[in-house]
Amino acid sequence: MNHAVSLAHSAQCLKKAIPLMVKYRMPVTPINYAIWYCYIQGNKPSLNAELDHVIALQQTCSQDKAKEIFDKHLTQDDLVFFQEMTEKFHTTMEQVQQDISTTLDHSKSFTTSLVDSQNELNMLVDVNSYNEILGCVERLTDDSIAMQDYAREFQTKLAVAYNEIKDLKEALNISKEAADTDTLTGFYNRGKFDSDIVNFCLEYSEQAQEDSLAVLIMFDIDHFKRFNDDFGHQKGDEVLRLVAKKVRENTTEAANVYRYGGEEFCITAYFDTINDIIAFADCIRLAIAKLAIRKKHDVTAKRAISASFGLAILRPFTNSTVLVERADRALYIAKTHGRNRIEIAPDI
Ligand code: GH3
Ligand code: MG
Ligand code: MG
Repeated sequence: MNHAVSLAHSAQCLKKAIPLMVKYRMPVTPINYAIWYCYIQGNKPSLNAELDHVIALQQTCSQDKAKEIFDKHLTQDDLVFFQEMTEKFHTTMEQVQQDISTTLDHSKSFTTSLVDSQNELNMLVDVNSYNEILGCVERLTDDSIAMQDYAREFQTKLAVAYNEIKDLKEALNISKEAADTDTLTGFYNRGKFDSDIVNFCLEYSEQAQEDSLAVLIMFDIDHFKRFNDDFGHQKGDEVLRLVAKKVRENTTEAANVYRYGGEEFCITAYFDTINDIIAFADCIRLAIAKLAIRKKHDVTAKRAISASFGLAILRPFTNSTVLVERADRALYIAKTHGRNRIEIAPDI
Protein backbone atom coordinates (compact mmCIF):
# COMPACT_ATOMS: atom_id res chain seq x y z
CA MET A 1 0.00 0.00 0.00
CA ASN A 2 1.29 3.49 -0.82
CA HIS A 3 1.78 5.33 2.44
CA ALA A 4 2.96 8.59 0.88
CA VAL A 5 -0.40 10.25 1.24
CA SER A 6 -1.14 13.74 2.47
CA LEU A 7 -2.68 14.34 5.85
CA ALA A 8 -5.63 15.99 4.09
CA HIS A 9 -6.26 12.85 2.05
CA SER A 10 -6.00 10.70 5.17
CA ALA A 11 -8.41 13.05 6.92
CA GLN A 12 -10.90 12.48 4.11
CA CYS A 13 -10.51 8.70 4.42
CA LEU A 14 -10.77 8.83 8.21
CA LYS A 15 -13.90 10.98 7.95
CA LYS A 16 -15.49 8.28 5.80
CA ALA A 17 -14.06 5.30 7.67
CA ILE A 18 -15.13 6.33 11.19
CA PRO A 19 -18.90 6.46 10.52
CA LEU A 20 -18.65 3.00 8.93
CA MET A 21 -16.83 1.59 11.96
CA VAL A 22 -19.43 3.20 14.26
CA LYS A 23 -22.31 1.95 12.08
CA TYR A 24 -21.02 -1.62 12.14
CA ARG A 25 -20.06 -1.44 15.86
CA MET A 26 -16.35 -1.89 15.20
CA PRO A 27 -13.89 -0.16 17.53
CA VAL A 28 -11.32 2.23 16.01
CA THR A 29 -8.33 -0.05 16.29
CA PRO A 30 -5.43 0.24 13.84
CA ILE A 31 -6.52 -3.04 12.18
CA ASN A 32 -10.14 -1.96 11.72
CA TYR A 33 -9.02 1.47 10.59
CA ALA A 34 -6.61 -0.11 8.10
CA ILE A 35 -9.20 -2.35 6.44
CA TRP A 36 -11.84 0.41 6.22
CA TYR A 37 -9.30 2.93 4.98
CA CYS A 38 -8.30 0.47 2.29
CA TYR A 39 -11.99 -0.19 1.57
CA ILE A 40 -12.62 3.52 0.99
CA GLN A 41 -9.55 3.89 -1.19
CA GLY A 42 -10.95 1.02 -3.28
CA ASN A 43 -7.53 -0.18 -4.51
CA LYS A 44 -8.12 -3.77 -3.44
CA PRO A 45 -11.45 -4.98 -4.85
CA SER A 46 -11.02 -8.42 -3.23
CA LEU A 47 -10.79 -6.80 0.23
CA ASN A 48 -13.93 -4.76 -0.48
CA ALA A 49 -15.78 -7.87 -1.64
CA GLU A 50 -14.75 -9.83 1.44
CA LEU A 51 -15.69 -7.05 3.85
CA ASP A 52 -19.03 -6.51 2.07
CA HIS A 53 -19.73 -10.23 2.38
CA VAL A 54 -18.96 -10.34 6.14
CA ILE A 55 -21.03 -7.20 6.83
CA ALA A 56 -23.97 -8.53 4.77
CA LEU A 57 -23.95 -11.73 6.83
CA GLN A 58 -23.27 -10.37 10.33
CA GLN A 59 -23.90 -6.59 10.18
CA THR A 60 -20.49 -6.29 11.86
CA CYS A 61 -16.99 -7.72 11.52
CA SER A 62 -15.43 -9.39 14.56
CA GLN A 63 -11.88 -8.63 15.68
CA ASP A 64 -10.80 -12.09 14.53
CA LYS A 65 -12.36 -11.70 11.10
CA ALA A 66 -10.90 -8.18 10.72
CA LYS A 67 -7.47 -9.59 11.58
CA GLU A 68 -7.98 -12.38 9.01
CA ILE A 69 -8.90 -9.85 6.28
CA PHE A 70 -5.98 -7.67 7.30
CA ASP A 71 -3.48 -10.55 7.18
CA LYS A 72 -4.74 -11.60 3.77
CA HIS A 73 -4.58 -8.20 2.08
CA LEU A 74 -2.22 -5.99 4.09
CA THR A 75 1.22 -6.19 5.70
CA GLN A 76 2.85 -5.48 9.07
CA ASP A 77 4.28 -2.26 7.58
CA ASP A 78 0.72 -1.18 6.89
CA LEU A 79 -0.16 -1.88 10.53
CA VAL A 80 2.69 0.30 11.82
CA PHE A 81 1.58 3.01 9.41
CA PHE A 82 -2.02 2.88 10.64
CA GLN A 83 -0.94 2.82 14.27
CA GLU A 84 1.04 6.01 13.68
CA MET A 85 -1.78 7.50 11.62
CA THR A 86 -4.38 6.87 14.32
CA GLU A 87 -2.14 8.45 16.96
CA LYS A 88 -1.26 11.39 14.72
CA PHE A 89 -4.92 12.04 14.16
CA HIS A 90 -5.76 12.11 17.83
CA THR A 91 -2.97 14.65 18.40
CA THR A 92 -3.83 16.75 15.35
CA MET A 93 -7.49 16.87 16.23
CA GLU A 94 -6.73 17.99 19.78
CA GLN A 95 -4.49 20.76 18.39
CA VAL A 96 -6.90 21.94 15.70
CA GLN A 97 -9.80 21.96 18.12
CA GLN A 98 -7.77 24.02 20.57
CA ASP A 99 -6.72 26.51 17.84
CA ILE A 100 -10.27 26.93 16.60
CA SER A 101 -11.58 27.39 20.11
CA THR A 102 -9.03 30.19 20.74
CA THR A 103 -9.74 31.83 17.37
CA LEU A 104 -13.48 31.73 18.04
CA ASP A 105 -12.97 33.58 21.32
CA HIS A 106 -10.85 36.26 19.61
CA SER A 107 -13.30 36.62 16.78
CA LYS A 108 -16.19 37.09 19.20
CA SER A 109 -14.40 39.87 21.12
CA PHE A 110 -13.41 41.50 17.80
CA THR A 111 -17.08 41.67 16.76
CA THR A 112 -18.02 43.10 20.14
CA SER A 113 -15.43 45.86 19.87
CA LEU A 114 -16.61 46.71 16.36
CA VAL A 115 -20.19 47.04 17.59
CA ASP A 116 -18.99 49.27 20.46
CA SER A 117 -17.04 51.63 18.20
CA GLN A 118 -19.92 51.79 15.73
CA ASN A 119 -22.26 52.82 18.55
CA GLU A 120 -19.74 55.44 19.65
CA LEU A 121 -19.52 56.85 16.13
CA ASN A 122 -23.27 56.95 15.79
CA MET A 123 -23.43 58.98 18.98
CA LEU A 124 -20.83 61.39 17.58
CA VAL A 125 -23.04 61.93 14.56
CA ASP A 126 -25.91 62.97 16.87
CA VAL A 127 -23.91 65.59 18.75
CA ASN A 128 -21.77 67.01 15.87
CA SER A 129 -23.25 68.48 12.73
CA TYR A 130 -19.98 69.02 10.81
CA ASN A 131 -20.34 67.53 7.32
CA GLU A 132 -16.75 66.33 7.03
CA ILE A 133 -16.84 64.48 10.25
CA LEU A 134 -20.19 63.06 9.26
CA GLY A 135 -18.77 61.78 5.93
CA CYS A 136 -15.83 60.20 7.65
CA VAL A 137 -18.07 58.71 10.26
CA GLU A 138 -20.39 57.26 7.62
CA ARG A 139 -17.42 55.68 5.85
CA LEU A 140 -16.14 54.25 9.07
CA THR A 141 -19.58 52.95 9.92
CA ASP A 142 -19.89 51.27 6.49
CA ASP A 143 -16.45 49.71 6.91
CA SER A 144 -17.31 48.62 10.35
CA ILE A 145 -20.53 46.97 9.16
CA ALA A 146 -18.61 45.19 6.39
CA MET A 147 -16.04 44.01 8.93
CA GLN A 148 -18.80 42.75 11.17
CA ASP A 149 -20.36 40.79 8.30
CA TYR A 150 -16.97 39.33 7.52
CA ALA A 151 -16.32 38.50 11.15
CA ARG A 152 -19.73 36.87 11.50
CA GLU A 153 -19.18 34.80 8.38
CA PHE A 154 -15.75 33.81 9.65
CA GLN A 155 -17.24 32.90 13.01
CA THR A 156 -19.92 30.73 11.36
CA LYS A 157 -17.32 28.92 9.25
CA LEU A 158 -15.18 28.27 12.28
CA ALA A 159 -18.14 27.08 14.31
CA VAL A 160 -19.05 24.59 11.55
CA ALA A 161 -15.46 23.26 11.44
CA TYR A 162 -15.35 23.12 15.22
CA ASN A 163 -18.57 21.08 15.41
CA GLU A 164 -17.40 18.72 12.67
CA ILE A 165 -14.23 17.94 14.60
CA LYS A 166 -16.17 17.64 17.84
CA ASP A 167 -18.53 15.10 16.22
CA LEU A 168 -15.59 13.14 14.85
CA LYS A 169 -13.95 13.10 18.26
CA GLU A 170 -17.19 11.94 19.87
CA ALA A 171 -17.45 9.14 17.31
CA LEU A 172 -13.91 8.11 18.18
CA ASN A 173 -14.70 8.15 21.90
CA ILE A 174 -17.84 6.05 21.38
CA SER A 175 -15.78 3.51 19.44
CA LYS A 176 -13.13 3.49 22.15
CA GLU A 177 -15.82 2.87 24.76
CA ALA A 178 -17.24 0.04 22.66
CA ALA A 179 -13.76 -1.49 22.43
CA ASP A 180 -13.46 -1.49 26.23
CA THR A 181 -16.94 -2.86 26.97
CA ASP A 182 -18.20 -6.41 27.33
CA THR A 183 -21.40 -6.60 25.29
CA LEU A 184 -23.21 -9.18 27.43
CA THR A 185 -22.86 -7.47 30.83
CA GLY A 186 -22.05 -3.87 29.90
CA PHE A 187 -19.03 -3.96 32.24
CA TYR A 188 -15.47 -3.25 31.16
CA ASN A 189 -13.84 -6.21 29.38
CA ARG A 190 -10.66 -8.18 29.99
CA GLY A 191 -8.52 -5.98 27.75
CA LYS A 192 -9.48 -2.91 29.75
CA PHE A 193 -8.83 -4.78 33.02
CA ASP A 194 -5.34 -5.78 31.91
CA SER A 195 -4.34 -2.18 31.26
CA ASP A 196 -6.27 -0.61 34.17
CA ILE A 197 -4.94 -2.96 36.85
CA VAL A 198 -1.35 -1.91 36.10
CA ASN A 199 -2.28 1.76 36.55
CA PHE A 200 -4.37 0.94 39.64
CA CYS A 201 -1.26 -0.51 41.33
CA LEU A 202 1.07 2.23 40.08
CA GLU A 203 -1.20 5.10 41.13
CA TYR A 204 -1.68 3.65 44.59
CA SER A 205 2.06 3.21 45.05
CA GLU A 206 2.78 6.75 43.85
CA GLN A 207 0.19 8.41 46.05
CA ALA A 208 0.71 6.02 49.01
CA GLN A 209 -2.67 6.95 50.47
CA GLU A 210 -2.33 5.87 54.06
CA ASP A 211 -5.90 6.77 54.92
CA SER A 212 -7.48 4.66 52.17
CA LEU A 213 -7.35 1.02 51.14
CA ALA A 214 -7.28 -0.12 47.54
CA VAL A 215 -8.79 -3.52 46.88
CA LEU A 216 -9.18 -6.01 44.10
CA ILE A 217 -12.33 -8.12 44.46
CA MET A 218 -12.54 -11.17 42.25
CA PHE A 219 -15.73 -13.21 42.15
CA ASP A 220 -16.94 -16.21 40.21
CA ILE A 221 -20.44 -17.63 39.77
CA ASP A 222 -20.79 -21.00 41.55
CA HIS A 223 -21.38 -24.14 39.49
CA PHE A 224 -22.12 -22.02 36.48
CA LYS A 225 -21.42 -24.87 34.09
CA ARG A 226 -24.48 -26.65 35.45
CA PHE A 227 -26.78 -23.82 34.29
CA ASN A 228 -25.42 -24.26 30.79
CA ASP A 229 -25.51 -28.06 30.90
CA ASP A 230 -28.96 -28.45 32.48
CA PHE A 231 -30.83 -25.31 31.32
CA GLY A 232 -29.02 -24.45 28.07
CA HIS A 233 -26.47 -21.85 27.06
CA GLN A 234 -29.12 -19.12 26.64
CA LYS A 235 -30.14 -19.53 30.27
CA GLY A 236 -26.45 -19.41 31.19
CA ASP A 237 -26.27 -16.01 29.47
CA GLU A 238 -29.38 -14.92 31.35
CA VAL A 239 -27.66 -15.81 34.66
CA LEU A 240 -24.73 -13.60 33.65
CA ARG A 241 -27.07 -10.70 32.86
CA LEU A 242 -29.00 -11.12 36.14
CA VAL A 243 -25.78 -11.19 38.15
CA ALA A 244 -24.47 -8.13 36.27
CA LYS A 245 -27.69 -6.24 37.08
CA LYS A 246 -27.34 -6.99 40.81
CA VAL A 247 -23.68 -5.99 40.80
CA ARG A 248 -24.56 -2.72 39.06
CA GLU A 249 -27.31 -1.99 41.60
CA ASN A 250 -24.89 -2.50 44.48
CA THR A 251 -21.86 -0.56 43.22
CA THR A 252 -21.20 3.16 42.88
CA GLU A 253 -19.47 5.04 40.09
CA ALA A 254 -16.29 5.00 42.18
CA ALA A 255 -15.88 1.24 41.70
CA ASN A 256 -14.71 -0.17 38.36
CA VAL A 257 -16.31 -3.46 37.39
CA TYR A 258 -14.83 -5.82 34.78
CA ARG A 259 -15.84 -9.12 33.24
CA TYR A 260 -12.56 -10.95 33.72
CA GLY A 261 -13.51 -14.15 31.95
CA GLY A 262 -16.59 -16.31 31.25
CA GLU A 263 -18.38 -16.12 34.65
CA GLU A 264 -15.64 -14.37 36.55
CA PHE A 265 -15.68 -10.67 37.47
CA CYS A 266 -13.32 -8.17 39.07
CA ILE A 267 -13.94 -4.96 40.94
CA THR A 268 -11.31 -2.37 41.86
CA ALA A 269 -12.19 0.30 44.41
CA TYR A 270 -10.98 2.37 47.37
CA PHE A 271 -12.36 2.12 50.90
CA ASP A 272 -11.61 3.59 54.34
CA THR A 273 -11.49 0.34 56.33
CA ILE A 274 -11.36 -3.42 55.87
CA ASN A 275 -14.85 -3.63 57.38
CA ASP A 276 -16.15 -1.32 54.62
CA ILE A 277 -14.59 -3.60 51.99
CA ILE A 278 -16.16 -6.72 53.49
CA ALA A 279 -19.56 -5.01 53.88
CA PHE A 280 -19.44 -3.94 50.22
CA ALA A 281 -18.51 -7.41 48.92
CA ASP A 282 -21.05 -9.08 51.19
CA CYS A 283 -23.81 -6.80 49.93
CA ILE A 284 -23.11 -7.99 46.38
CA ARG A 285 -22.79 -11.62 47.48
CA LEU A 286 -26.18 -11.49 49.27
CA ALA A 287 -27.90 -9.73 46.35
CA ILE A 288 -26.66 -12.48 44.00
CA ALA A 289 -27.66 -15.22 46.46
CA LYS A 290 -31.28 -13.97 46.31
CA LEU A 291 -31.39 -14.70 42.58
CA ALA A 292 -32.77 -17.86 41.01
CA ILE A 293 -33.44 -19.00 37.48
CA ARG A 294 -36.17 -21.22 36.06
CA LYS A 295 -35.82 -23.74 33.31
CA LYS A 296 -37.53 -22.95 30.01
CA HIS A 297 -40.81 -24.89 29.51
CA ASP A 298 -40.51 -26.26 33.07
CA VAL A 299 -41.06 -23.45 35.56
CA THR A 300 -41.02 -25.88 38.49
CA ALA A 301 -37.33 -26.51 37.86
CA LYS A 302 -35.77 -23.60 39.70
CA ARG A 303 -32.14 -23.19 40.67
CA ALA A 304 -30.51 -20.69 43.04
CA ILE A 305 -27.59 -18.56 41.91
CA SER A 306 -24.58 -17.73 44.06
CA ALA A 307 -21.01 -16.53 43.72
CA SER A 308 -17.74 -16.87 45.65
CA PHE A 309 -15.44 -13.93 46.38
CA GLY A 310 -11.67 -13.47 46.78
CA LEU A 311 -10.41 -10.13 48.14
CA ALA A 312 -6.86 -8.82 47.93
CA ILE A 313 -5.94 -5.55 49.59
CA LEU A 314 -3.26 -3.66 47.74
CA ARG A 315 -0.05 -2.81 49.51
CA PRO A 316 2.12 -0.02 48.06
CA PHE A 317 4.61 -1.17 45.43
CA THR A 318 2.78 -4.45 44.80
CA ASN A 319 3.03 -5.68 41.27
CA SER A 320 -0.37 -6.11 39.51
CA THR A 321 0.38 -9.76 38.69
CA VAL A 322 0.92 -10.49 42.38
CA LEU A 323 -2.30 -8.68 43.31
CA VAL A 324 -4.33 -10.72 40.80
CA GLU A 325 -2.69 -13.96 42.00
CA ARG A 326 -3.56 -13.15 45.62
CA ALA A 327 -7.22 -12.41 44.79
CA ASP A 328 -7.39 -15.54 42.63
CA ARG A 329 -5.97 -17.69 45.44
CA ALA A 330 -8.47 -16.24 47.94
CA LEU A 331 -11.27 -16.98 45.48
CA TYR A 332 -10.03 -20.55 45.13
CA ILE A 333 -10.15 -20.94 48.94
CA ALA A 334 -13.73 -19.55 48.97
CA LYS A 335 -14.63 -22.24 46.42
CA THR A 336 -12.98 -25.08 48.32
CA HIS A 337 -14.48 -23.90 51.64
CA GLY A 338 -18.03 -24.34 50.38
CA ARG A 339 -18.75 -21.48 47.88
CA ASN A 340 -21.16 -18.50 48.29
CA ARG A 341 -18.63 -16.94 50.67
CA ILE A 342 -15.87 -14.35 50.92
CA GLU A 343 -12.18 -14.98 51.61
CA ILE A 344 -9.51 -12.36 52.14
CA ALA A 345 -6.01 -12.98 50.84
CA PRO A 346 -3.41 -12.96 53.62
CA ASP A 347 -0.72 -10.27 53.51
CA ILE A 348 2.55 -11.35 51.96
P1 GH3 B 1 -17.12 -23.27 40.03
O1 GH3 B 1 -18.19 -23.16 41.06
O2 GH3 B 1 -15.95 -24.06 40.54
O3 GH3 B 1 -16.70 -21.92 39.53
O4 GH3 B 1 -17.70 -24.09 38.80
P2 GH3 B 1 -18.21 -23.55 37.41
O5 GH3 B 1 -19.08 -24.56 36.80
O6 GH3 B 1 -18.82 -22.20 37.61
O7 GH3 B 1 -16.84 -23.34 36.64
P3 GH3 B 1 -16.29 -23.94 35.30
O8 GH3 B 1 -15.02 -23.17 35.05
O9 GH3 B 1 -16.22 -25.42 35.34
O10 GH3 B 1 -17.35 -23.56 34.19
C1 GH3 B 1 -17.50 -22.28 33.64
C2 GH3 B 1 -18.35 -22.41 32.41
O11 GH3 B 1 -18.74 -21.11 31.93
C3 GH3 B 1 -17.68 -23.10 31.27
C4 GH3 B 1 -18.00 -22.24 30.05
O12 GH3 B 1 -18.53 -23.01 29.01
C5 GH3 B 1 -19.05 -21.28 30.55
N1 GH3 B 1 -19.05 -19.97 29.91
C6 GH3 B 1 -18.00 -19.14 29.71
N2 GH3 B 1 -18.43 -18.00 29.11
C7 GH3 B 1 -19.76 -18.09 28.92
C8 GH3 B 1 -20.77 -17.24 28.35
O13 GH3 B 1 -20.50 -16.12 27.91
N3 GH3 B 1 -22.05 -17.69 28.35
C9 GH3 B 1 -22.38 -18.90 28.85
N4 GH3 B 1 -23.65 -19.27 28.81
N5 GH3 B 1 -21.46 -19.76 29.36
C10 GH3 B 1 -20.18 -19.36 29.41
MG1 MG C 1 -17.65 -20.62 38.31
MG1 MG D 1 -14.53 -19.57 36.55
